[in-house]
Amino acid sequence: MKVVTEVQNPLQVFAQMESEVRSYCRHFPVVFAKESGHTIWDTAGRDYIDFFAGAGALNYGHNNPVIKEKLIEYLTKDGLTHSLDMATEAKEALLQRFDEVILAPRGLRYKVMFPGPTGTNSVEAALKLARKVTGRHTILSFTNGFHGMTIGSLSVTGNRTKREGAGMPDAMDTAAYIERLLEDGGSGLSLPAAMILETVQGEGGINVASDAWLQSIEKMCRKHGILLIVDDVQAGCGRTGTFFSFERAGIVPDFVCLSKSIGGYGLPLALTLIKPELDIWKPGEHNGTFRGNNLAFVAGQEALNYWQDDSFGKSIEQKGQMVHSRLEQLVTAYPYLHGEVRGKGLMQGIAVKPEGLAEAICTRAFERGLVMETSGPNGEVMKFLPPLTITDEALKTGLAILEESIKDCQRKERG
Ligand code: PMP
Repeated sequence: MKVVTEVQNPLQVFAQMESEVRSYCRHFPVVFAKESGHTIWDTAGRDYIDFFAGAGALNYGHNNPVIKEKLIEYLTKDGLTHSLDMATEAKEALLQRFDEVILAPRGLRYKVMFPGPTGTNSVEAALKLARKVTGRHTILSFTNGFHGMTIGSLSVTGNRTKREGAGMPDAMDTAAYIERLLEDGGSGLSLPAAMILETVQGEGGINVASDAWLQSIEKMCRKHGILLIVDDVQAGCGRTGTFFSFERAGIVPDFVCLSKSIGGYGLPLALTLIKPELDIWKPGEHNGTFRGNNLAFVAGQEALNYWQDDSFGKSIEQKGQMVHSRLEQLVTAYPYLHGEVRGKGLMQGIAVKPEGLAEAICTRAFERGLVMETSGPNGEVMKFLPPLTITDEALKTGLAILEESIKDCQRKERG
């Protein structure tokens, strides 16, 4: 007698119990169980190369063994886990290391605020402080910028129809355009408290702002007394090849928002960096229960060791170049994509023309064992965000899977 086992939907529990708001599990419809380095396994034991890296929260790889060791050690000795903003050994060590390895060598002086664990917490704190410092209310933000999903951050998250979006079709022109609006008393644009920008727009489609544009924005901000906020939540922590994404342009923002990989191990942590003279907060004026994630302090401190010298940055640069030339090859080899390669370091993408194609290729790639997502206002960009620690070998294998997926979709398009 044949026993017929019912094929169960592996996501049944989630479909039944979890809110309709869930999204990534719809794109990657398996149950994940294990991860290491650049590899994730599902409960069926299938392995996937990760070109997603927790949306940039896993720059140092999954379960990075050195960081894991430090966490186990810390847990074993009963170190504090939760501490609001009390002074702890782990936080002290992180602050000192951050100054030693990141701030001091770059000649940067910032006070460090712990605004709560997520990227959007960091943005909210910067917006609130910019308003408090200047006494002005409006914030200038850019089309296709993404800053988070809480109300304040959302209000500066640009889409085509939204508020202050100044448009970013041609970077230099935009700067000149804003300057004209600011100079023209009758333009209707009131002097903003701050401008907020990403040097490479992550969710917005891997749009890279040029150094010259960033410099003219900084100059304009100084001239008009506007505070400059760089949201480095996704592009920071080495993603573009330097620890801060704005280093290449030589600008010094008034506030810097950091999150995602600052917690080293995928553990929630965010910082808002504030120029000392702007740190006019009164004690407790902006607070929250989860601002002291000591496990993230421990992991984050350990992760900073990658930045002790310039070798890690160089390796990101090298890998980035490798990815870039391979993506250029693919765009040339498959004209049906009408593709355009974008990005910096290991934050890259291919924008494709046919509607829905980027998503179709990502879906196919997942079936073939590669995790990657789309970005851009219409999901038209295939986005490549591997862990920065990925091996050349795995990068090549992932890119080969991508090529096969592009071929599969081409066959489908041709019918
Ligand atoms: N800013 C940028 C540039 C981001 O990419 C994101 C998240 N993708 C955020 C802010 C918000 O971070 P979080 O999801 O942790 O709130």
